[in-house]
Amino acid sequence: MTIYPPRPPEFACILCGTTVPDRWEHASRYPIPPVCNRCSFTWGKGIGGVGDLHRDRRIARVIIALAEALSVEAYQQLRGDRYGRA
Ligand SMILES: [Zn+2]
Repeated sequence: MTIYPPRPPEFACILCGTTVPDRWEHASRYPIPPVCNRCSFTWGKGIGGVGDLHRDRRIARVIIALAEALSVEAYQQLRGDRYGRA
């Protein structure tokens, strides 16, 4: 009988607000706080490909996602969004 590790505590993604993890997954696929997997793949640069589960590269992807989100927010604060609103 396989003994699975307990599910990590839930957290709200700081980019989209989704509460994750919402279901059991393999331990290597759990999202790394404070960003959910979807946002880390959307905002982060592709390091190691789509199926890469290496934890160091996943952490790098999360950091890149946070930096990219901050960059976009700063650009919107400085220049307004693409429709010219401030
Ligand atoms: Zn998210």
